[in-house]
Amino acid sequence: MKIKLEEKFAEQYHKNADAVYFTPGRVNLIGEHIDYNGGLVMPCAITLGTWLVIAPNSENKLRFKSLNFEAQTEVESNQIYTKNGSLWANYPIGVINEFINDGKEIPGMDFLYFGNIPIGSGLSSSASIEIATAFALNDYLNLGYDNLELVKIAKRVENDFIGLNSGIMDQFAVAFGEKDKAIVLDCETLKYKMVDVDLGNYVLAIINTKKPRELADSKYNERVEECKTALNLLNEEIKLNNLCELTAEKFALHNHLIKDETILNRATHVVKENGRVHLAAKALNAGQLEEFGRLMYASHQSLKELYEVSGKELDAVVDFCSDYEHVIGARMTGAGFGGCAIALLEKGYEEDFAKHLTDYYVDKIGYPAEIYVSEIGNGPIKL
Ligand code: ADP
Ligand code: MG
Repeated sequence: MKIKLEEKFAEQYHKNADAVYFTPGRVNLIGEHIDYNGGLVMPCAITLGTWLVIAPNSENKLRFKSLNFEAQTEVESNQIYTKNGSLWANYPIGVINEFINDGKEIPGMDFLYFGNIPIGSGLSSSASIEIATAFALNDYLNLGYDNLELVKIAKRVENDFIGLNSGIMDQFAVAFGEKDKAIVLDCETLKYKMVDVDLGNYVLAIINTKKPRELADSKYNERVEECKTALNLLNEEIKLNNLCELTAEKFALHNHLIKDETILNRATHVVKENGRVHLAAKALNAGQLEEFGRLMYASHQSLKELYEVSGKELDAVVDFCSDYEHVIGARMTGAGFGGCAIALLEKGYEEDFAKHLTDYYVDKIGYPAEIYVSEIGNGPIKL
């Protein structure tokens, strides 16, 4: 891959590449719609990701090309930048803008990206391209940031430059991922623990429903508001900063304050899902993969019925998995309303699973899903 991309770089820019980097995408194993409620999430980096090839130029230009998109962008180096429409180069330019605002000098550079993450499907290709750019420039130009600073920079790009009000989980997972480990991250304190994930005789299957996530952003914001409403109601009796400070037992003592059934359902999901992350970490530590799988199904059920962020496509995948003998756990991952599901699939059944799931899914939904097998991979590296 590295040599091929260096060749592509030479074709595109008519000169040699100088450095090649790889940055992963991520899945969230469990703990969904929790990051903005101040609780625990459990993402990991995956082996699908974004490659970035760079070389300096002496023309004081920043040039951006991607093998995934036709649009190319060129700007003068060392300026203050603003978002330019919906160009993909907003992501790397946003990162460079943060560096410049922080007093760094970024000289003329040529960039070539290639990603094998399905783009716009909830596996965080956006966090991947942000961290790819931040990590590569930090390394190449010796900018002196640590990984957590790069995560915060990338999050600011997503929130302020791109304009999506997302939590810190994606950038954190992409930057801190380690092979065969999950990250148990407290989204309030940013304290985290790495947990060994021994998948044994199983692989991580990722199923892209190919359902466009049109409603995702507005529904996402609606859920954020509903959680705030629940928090305000509970605060009439107890003092809380966020819903995830409550155990299920404590929540049961106070949930009479929430009269609206929908709001009660949302809060119930949050409190119980946060509890499931604790249980999931325990199960992984004890090597109880089947228990982990059971928690994945419970998470999906709650996201479907209480939080109402699934959809017929994601449900079709998870329903199929629960009837398929060689899967021990499955759930939607990411914000929902489409995007991807994950499943723990017994090794050796990859083809059989793909064939039968495809038949089932086409019959129910009308078009095929895409199926990937991934390992839990490392964070960004120079190749
Ligand atoms: P997700 O993060 O779920 O994949 P987003 O909509 O948040 O979806 O981010 C996808 C956007 O990120 C793309 O539309 C594009 O602008 C940018 N992007 C991601 N990967 C690449 C890539 N390899 N090359 C160019 N742009 C990319
Ligand atoms: Mg994204």
